[in-house]
Amino acid sequence: MLSYQHAYHAGNFADVHKHLTLHGVINHLLRKESSITYIDTHAGRGLYPLAAEETARLHEYRLGVLPLWESRRSLSTNGLLHGWLAALAEVQSDPSRLSHYPGSPWWMSRCLRSQDRQLLFELHPGEHEHLTEQTLDGAVRKIHGDGLKGLVQRLPVKTPRLCVLIDPSYERKQEYVEVADTLSTTLRKARHAVIMVWYPLLPAGRHHELLEAIKAHGLRKVWRSEFMLHASKEGIGGMYGSGMLITNPPWGLDKHLAEAMARVAPLLSREARYQADWWVGE
Ligand code: SAM
Repeated sequence: MLSYQHAYHAGNFADVHKHLTLHGVINHLLRKESSITYIDTHAGRGLYPLAAEETARLHEYRLGVLPLWESRRSLSTNGLLHGWLAALAEVQSDPSRLSHYPGSPWWMSRCLRSQDRQLLFELHPGEHEHLTEQTLDGAVRKIHGDGLKGLVQRLPVKTPRLCVLIDPSYERKQEYVEVADTLSTTLRKARHAVIMVWYPLLPAGRHHELLEAIKAHGLRKVWRSEFMLHASKEGIGGMYGSGMLITNPPWGLDKHLAEAMARVAPLLSREARYQADWWVGE
C-alpha cells in the first residue's frame, strides 16, 4: 500500500541537497560525448506547482528552495548554484516569481542529448498518471512499475554509460536493505555505473542498515554526502537531515558540492551542516 506523495515535500531541504547533487553529477557526466542511460527508479512527478493543495499544506519549500531562490543573485557567484538556479528559472511561469519546483525526472531530462535515453519508474498509479501527463524532452520512457526490479531487469543497458537515481520513500523498513541489494546487483552487472542513492536521516537511524549492508556486500568507491538541517536529532520528530551515496563519483564533484552547500547551509538554518567522505574507498 503506497501512501507517500512527494507533493507534500516538494522543494524541501532534502530536495535541494538531492537535486543539487544530481545536477552536479550530470554536469560532470556531460563533459564526455559517449551516450548515457539515466534511470530514475522512484520518479515521482516531473513538476510540482507550489500552490497545489498538498504542497501548500506543509509548505516545506519555505525551508528549502525558497531561500535559495530569494538569494539567487548573490548565489550566482558559485558555478554549481548558478547553473541550478538558472535551470530552476526555466520552469517558472513568471521568471520573477517561484511558483513551481521540478522533480528528478525533469532535472534529468533537461540534460538529455540526442544520444542519451531516460527510463522513469513510478509504482503509485496516481503519481505515474501525473508523470505521463507531463511533457519531458528527449528519449524518455515512463514505466508504471517497481523501480528496483525494473532497474535490474534492464541491465546491461545499451549505452556505454549508466547513471541511476534511487530515491525511495522508505515507507517499508526493508527498503533500506533492498536498496543495498539492488546496488550490489547493479554494480556487478555495470561496474562503472554512477548510482546515487538518497536516504533520510531520521532519529531512528535506520539508514545505518543501508550503510552497513553496503559494506557487507563488499562494494567499493562509495562516496557519502550528508546535509543536516539540525545540529542534534534530539527533540526532532521527523527528518533532521538528508543523505546521498554515490558510487563511482565523478572527479571534482566533492569540491563543487562542498562549495555550493557551504553557501546553502546558512540560508536554511544557523545549525545546518554539510559533510562528505568516502563511505567505502577504492
Ligand atoms: N525522485 C523524486 C524526486 O526527486 O523528485 C521523488 C521520489 S519520492 C521520494 C518516491 C516515489 O517513489 C513516490 O512517488 C512513490 O510513489 C514511488 N515509489 C514507491 N515505491 C516504489 C517502487 N517500488 N518502485 C517505483 N516507485 C516507487
